[in-house]
Amino acid sequence: PALPADPDATANPLVATTATGHRRILTGDRPTGPLHLGHYFGTLRSRVELQAQGIELMIVIPDYQALTDRDRADRPDEHAENLVLDYLAAGVDPGRATVFTHSAVPALNQLMLPFLSLVSVAELSRNPTVKDEIAHSRQAAVSGLMFTYPVHQAADILFCKADLVPVGQDQLPHLEITRTIARRFNDRYAALFPEPQALLSRAPLLLGTDGGKMSKSRGNAITLGASEDETAKLLRGAVTDPERHIRYDPEHRPGVSNLLLLTALCQDRDPHAVAEEIGSGGAALLKRTATEAVNEYFRPLRARRAELAADRTVLREVLHAGNARANDTADRTLAEVRTAMGTFTC
Ligand code: ATP
Ligand code: MG
Repeated sequence: PALPADPDATANPLVATTATGHRRILTGDRPTGPLHLGHYFGTLRSRVELQAQGIELMIVIPDYQALTDRDRADRPDEHAENLVLDYLAAGVDPGRATVFTHSAVPALNQLMLPFLSLVSVAELSRNPTVKDEIAHSRQAAVSGLMFTYPVHQAADILFCKADLVPVGQDQLPHLEITRTIARRFNDRYAALFPEPQALLSRAPLLLGTDGGKMSKSRGNAITLGASEDETAKLLRGAVTDPERHIRYDPEHRPGVSNLLLLTALCQDRDPHAVAEEIGSGGAALLKRTATEAVNEYFRPLRARRAELAADRTVLREVLHAGNARANDTADRTLAEVRTAMGTFTC
């Protein structure tokens, strides 16, 4: 007899539509600056919600990944601590989540080497996110790390056998590489790894004030810790268009639609309803509406963030404990990988 239809089944196995049946999530943020609204609505809010549902939460801070598009990492430790501050302010439970830095877990880099053997140069070179990052890179020459970081990211995900990865849209090509590596490892050696799925939110690609992807490193972000005045000033300068009537049309009016979506996310509404309310009020009214919505929604988070910022030892302790837990897990997985590969056990 035919099995009943799986309500979570999706046409695209890369993307999960719900977290049903998943046990462990891994996701992360480069230590290149403070978190912004794109992070919050793209992945951070989902992480907190999933943790509340009892799913184990792992967060990697891929510090070596700061070197993909710049020659030197600028204060990665300080940025890592500030990421922990943002996580805690957003509601990540430090007693249950594992937050760790890539460089503190050496076994990850040992996992990366066999993983590199499982993907072709052609597969690495056609990655559209890597191409976009090269276009925005501060380096004169493209380094080998730029091409291979999706593979060390695969190690960051697979070492803990995460099965769900809440991320923004830019991460989908990387997750495809992770799934390919898991599948090929399982076929070639032993069935060790799940093929993790991406979980996209309602805002998989929030735009910054310049109309491009909101990014820590592109000077177009509104950070979680921004003051209300700073938020107002940044939103006043956001790229929109001169048409007076406000409509939600992401394809043709990306700037306006992005502000409508941002408002809708903060107020748990439909962006079309926000557009109707603004009607012919124009971009100035839209920006004022968005500013009020953002400042109101983030007021409690920002207050918690200011309180937590007073004691940085707590932030370091979270990382310390997370690094220890991640090392245990990575050492265990590396031992399994060596056994599976047969010749790497001496
Ligand atoms: P950088 O400019 O240094 O690369 P970033 O803002 O792109 O910083 P990352 O650390 O690269 O942030 O990404 C962390 C996570 O946040 C990833 O899952 C990514 O998909 C997600 N993310 C980043 N920017 C956005 C955005 N604008 N909208 C939705 N999700 C985003
Ligand atoms: Mg990025």
